[in-house]
Amino acid sequence: DGIDITHGNIGDNEKTVKKAFYIPVKRNQEIQEARMELPICAEEQIIMETISNNPVVIICGETGSGKTTQVPQFLYEAGYGNKDSDNPGIIGITQPRRIAAVSMSKRVAQELSLSEQEVSYQIRYDATVSPKTVIKFMTDGVLLRELANDFLLSKYSAVIIDEAHERSLNTDILIGAISRVLKLRAELSKEDGSKIRPIKVIIMSATLRVSDFTQNKNLFDVAPPVINVNTRQFPVSIHFNKRTPNFDYVSEAFKKVCKIHTKLPHGGILVFLTGQDEITLLCKKFRRKFPYLMQNQYNSKQMLEKEKTFREVEQERESLNSKEADFEIEDLDIGEEELEETELLDTDSEDFEENLENDEMIMDEHSRPLYVLPLYSLLSTHAQLRVFEPPPEGTRLCVVATNVAETSLTIPGIKYVVDCGKVKGRRYDVATGVQSYVVDWTSKASADQRAGRAGRTGPGHCYRLFSSAVFNDQFQQFTVPEIHRMPIEGIVLQMKAMNIDTVNNFPFPTPPDRDRLRKAEKLLQYMNALDEDGRITELGRTMATFPIAPRFSKMLIIGQQHGCLPYIIAIVSALSVVDPFIKDYHLDNSTNSDDDVKEEEYEEVRSNELNKLSEEAILQKERQKLIRKKFYDVQKKHAGLDPTSDLLKLLNVVGAYEYEGGTDKFCECNFVRPKAMEEIRKLRGQITNIIQMNCPGVDVCLDPKMKPPSTIQLKAIRQVITAGFIDQIAIRKGLIDKSSKIFSSTRNVEYCTMWGNDNVFIHPTSVLYHNKPPDFVVYQELHKTSKVWMKGVTIVESSWLSKLGRSLCTFSKPVELPTSKSKRNKDTENLAYVIPSFGPKNWELP
Ligand code: ADP
Ligand code: MG
Repeated sequence: DGIDITHGNIGDNEKTVKKAFYIPVKRNQEIQEARMELPICAEEQIIMETISNNPVVIICGETGSGKTTQVPQFLYEAGYGNKDSDNPGIIGITQPRRIAAVSMSKRVAQELSLSEQEVSYQIRYDATVSPKTVIKFMTDGVLLRELANDFLLSKYSAVIIDEAHERSLNTDILIGAISRVLKLRAELSKEDGSKIRPIKVIIMSATLRVSDFTQNKNLFDVAPPVINVNTRQFPVSIHFNKRTPNFDYVSEAFKKVCKIHTKLPHGGILVFLTGQDEITLLCKKFRRKFPYLMQNQYNSKQMLEKEKTFREVEQERESLNSKEADFEIEDLDIGEEELEETELLDTDSEDFEENLENDEMIMDEHSRPLYVLPLYSLLSTHAQLRVFEPPPEGTRLCVVATNVAETSLTIPGIKYVVDCGKVKGRRYDVATGVQSYVVDWTSKASADQRAGRAGRTGPGHCYRLFSSAVFNDQFQQFTVPEIHRMPIEGIVLQMKAMNIDTVNNFPFPTPPDRDRLRKAEKLLQYMNALDEDGRITELGRTMATFPIAPRFSKMLIIGQQHGCLPYIIAIVSALSVVDPFIKDYHLDNSTNSDDDVKEEEYEEVRSNELNKLSEEAILQKERQKLIRKKFYDVQKKHAGLDPTSDLLKLLNVVGAYEYEGGTDKFCECNFVRPKAMEEIRKLRGQITNIIQMNCPGVDVCLDPKMKPPSTIQLKAIRQVITAGFIDQIAIRKGLIDKSSKIFSSTRNVEYCTMWGNDNVFIHPTSVLYHNKPPDFVVYQELHKTSKVWMKGVTIVESSWLSKLGRSLCTFSKPVELPTSKSKRNKDTENLAYVIPSFGPKNWELP
């Protein structure tokens, strides 16, 4: 680990701080008193000495210890950010969340009695920066973009990377990039007459898990010192629910808050939910239950103010809702099994529960009003800052917040925490790469952070709306860093879009596999997202704006250009859920209905089954044969009149399902799973939304019904699929061997991919299986059992390959590529005739 600094000991480097540039600050007395209460202020001396003597310092301290608000002030007072000091750049602080960047900059400006131009913020769509700025709060994404233009970060004398424990993708990449900036600035500063000064880097974390930063030799040559801020934390009693109910956690939270409010002594309540919609819903519920709050309990002036702010909140919500609609998946797919009761400090008593069913109880005249405030990132700054103000006299504060209140913002006066245990996170399906917002259990570490919010000012209570069994069995210890939850080519494309060109040697705090990085880079080149030198192309930049795996974003972009976008959206969505088609052996009770049935036996199972059967079962078998026949008939129907692609079969079923109104009956008759079909519909809505938000000029419709594609469109769709999976082309082996053998079905017909030497085969479930084997196909995935099977197969025309996979082509003679874009497109078409081979194996194109 790094050098652990304890009080008064800074190891061998003991030197005194040069306070040559002590900037006097006028703070109002109230603020000064509040500051003195913060644990971090007791450590100012040590922190500043360590920063002065080391290029990188890590500061760990509990949430609320004062890191975000105070460390920038320490630096400011020591002269960082001052134009006349010997290190005259400004002080930068990054945050993973916009809400924190904005509200923290306001707070620091207030504490330092400086203007918003002097202590400013910059987030993607909004900024208060000016030439007068000395301290700048920003999101990590903003600083990454600045890095792309100025790799020395010459504007800054010190950069603070806050909330590093969250391990957001941006923060991780930022720390990696800054470790290089640091070395570069240090070297350049040594040159004679250089104006460049070394930069100071401070990494701040709410937890002590910082070994990924200290022990990584690629990152920092010398392990940076770690300063632990001692925080006094009062005990928090944890109360688990006895069981995890069906999990309408909004209602559960509502009940719990009512109970706390009517039964327990004073003290603020903080409720953790996952998103804006839930928060607004819960706030509404409270307002309905406590309507007299506004009439009775406030004097008229306060009342007017309250009315106004509530209305503001409502209006804001509505305007945002229209933008955000359907963007996030709210579906909670939780196992509904009841878990064993656990008695762990559980104070629930039956009569409490009974009382709660009774509305009169809650309307109890004697209970004080509940002052309810929402807190989520899209709330206006003004409304956000209200959580820091003391609640109106005689009321109890109740903040309903997202994860933002876990470590980014500390709300004063919280004694009770109500935790739903869930978090909404970006999640990539690593196999298919579609990114969605999914609500899932949080980690043990973050649940403990949430509980900790109740123990800042005195002993507190945390009510977990789930059982301790769920906590023990289903919660991960820590949240996995975002970088390990994303498909690698997405990360590479994002980094390239930030102009980080050398990803392979990039010092990630916890690096993804090098080999995978290199392959991802290659893949992006094949897709023309990167040029031959590995730099991002215009297409690549457009692809990077979609929160979807690069293959799919490319398909969407090309689909749009070829007038078949809605179909591509449907295909991409369908590829992103588990196969919606029921496999036929699932219909058969006598065979192993386990998913693990070896798929190469698919055909064999069908023919051998009857022989193996006992007498009594024959009758049942006959009946099932009928069902099976129907199944095959239906499958044929799905494949359409022109069975050229398994992906078109998917499109077909999606289209038919919506056309029939999406009924369960349809699913039953067509052997598809209703759940998968619903998911596909949801994803289509989500992707349509993403496109509407990212591409203002593109007109896509949210109506799930579509007209069947025309013949021209069908061909275009196959080309788009080819473009998206251009590295997954397979050629019939007979074509290479020049064998003249003729096949009537694809059974046992050998194909070879561009890469490996294994023969691959078309899977028996493919619509192509019973047809004449095509020369070229593109596959969606390879599946290895005793043979290697291609799944999701589409027939490709060889003439497309040279157009769609230019970087995989070998040119017969050097051809000079024209530089202008429009010209290039035209010429590439002609090039198709002078390119004889494709792929690393140099297949000849007929
Ligand atoms: P940390 O970064 O260590 O979690 P902070 O610096 O965010 O801690 O918070 C320190 C203290 O400042 C907390 O008690 C918090 O409530 C208070 N605080 C932060 N912002 C404001 C604000 N806008 N108004 C009043 N108090 C605030
Ligand atoms: Mg903080």
